[in-house]
Amino acid sequence: MKKHNFSAGPSILPASVMKKASEAVIDFNRMGLSLIEISHRSKEFIAVMERAQDLALELTGLKSKGYKAMFLQGGASMQFLMTAYNLLETKAGYINTGAWSTKAIKEAKFFGEVVEVASSKDHNFNYIPKGHTIPLDLDYLHITTNNTIFGTQFHEIPHTDIPLIADMSSDIFSRDIDYSKFDLFYAGAQKNMGPSGTTLVIVKEELLGKVSRTIPSMLSYEVQLKSDSMFNTPPVFPIYTSMLTLEWLLENGGINQIEKHNKAKAELIYNEIDRNSAFEGFAAKKDRSHMNATFNLADGVDGYAFDNLWNEANISGLKGHRSVGGYRASIYNALPLESVNLLVGVMKKFEQTLQ
Ligand SMILES: *Cc1c(COP(=O)(O)O)cnc(C)c1O
Repeated sequence: MKKHNFSAGPSILPASVMKKASEAVIDFNRMGLSLIEISHRSKEFIAVMERAQDLALELTGLKSKGYKAMFLQGGASMQFLMTAYNLLETKAGYINTGAWSTKAIKEAKFFGEVVEVASSKDHNFNYIPKGHTIPLDLDYLHITTNNTIFGTQFHEIPHTDIPLIADMSSDIFSRDIDYSKFDLFYAGAQKNMGPSGTTLVIVKEELLGKVSRTIPSMLSYEVQLKSDSMFNTPPVFPIYTSMLTLEWLLENGGINQIEKHNKAKAELIYNEIDRNSAFEGFAAKKDRSHMNATFNLADGVDGYAFDNLWNEANISGLKGHRSVGGYRASIYNALPLESVNLLVGVMKKFEQTLQ
């Protein structure tokens, strides 16, 4: 029986996407060949790459606006250094909202001065810093729009005139924001788009070519753009599966519709966290993520029975990250409302066992 998958990543994909992706591994486009045994330079795969890039721009509303989409390798973690390698000439600003931002800062320091413009480390990253001034002498400002581990999310994108860069690994394509506020954003595929192995990078072309250092080919956005994400053999299966997910998203009304669906799921789980005396939310209420809901047991509550209950209910992937403890319900695009309903039912049942 298929489980209710609350995994933080790699995570749930639409069932129809899984079916099509698995079929393509056996026989792609009735070619009598598998997707993973044909040349990446075949017209069939080039069409996949172009379609995936096109869908990414269309869904984010960035088509014909000077942006390009690339599918690269090395995960979001490679982007921590690639962004700095390509864009950091002297000084860059970072807002530190958790483990991933901290890693991005560490990598950027190899290439220049890094200013931590704001940080929420003082409260174990349970909120999004606000009200700070953003210096104007920075090459760019980097933010992590959704903090997968801590369950916080920027509901308002910082306003600045310097180039804005974002790690959107865990909330890309999940909400209707003005993507043109960003000059570059990236996302590892494995949270809201596809299997691990590829990273989507969307960049405003005019941002590139400004640093004075020479950049090795594989790590150069300009080289990758010129070769259309095919400087070397691209990860064909993750890209194809991502293409299928983006098609699914478009067919289901695009980002606008999925945002409504995601809001409904988030409301359902957070209402229960707040109502239920056995639990307390981890993140500050106004900064709560609509993708990863983090919560802990209330003081003195033993979670043993809860763990049994959700396991018995066929729920998977609910354990919190070790730096937060407790639980994390990841409610990505493909997770159905009924899975959240089921979890809420289990939380209620657990509360009753305590009385
Ligand atoms: C998962 C995640 C990463 C790490 O992605 P990799 O592809 O494993 O490098 C980085 N940033 C955020 C926000 C994430 O959720």
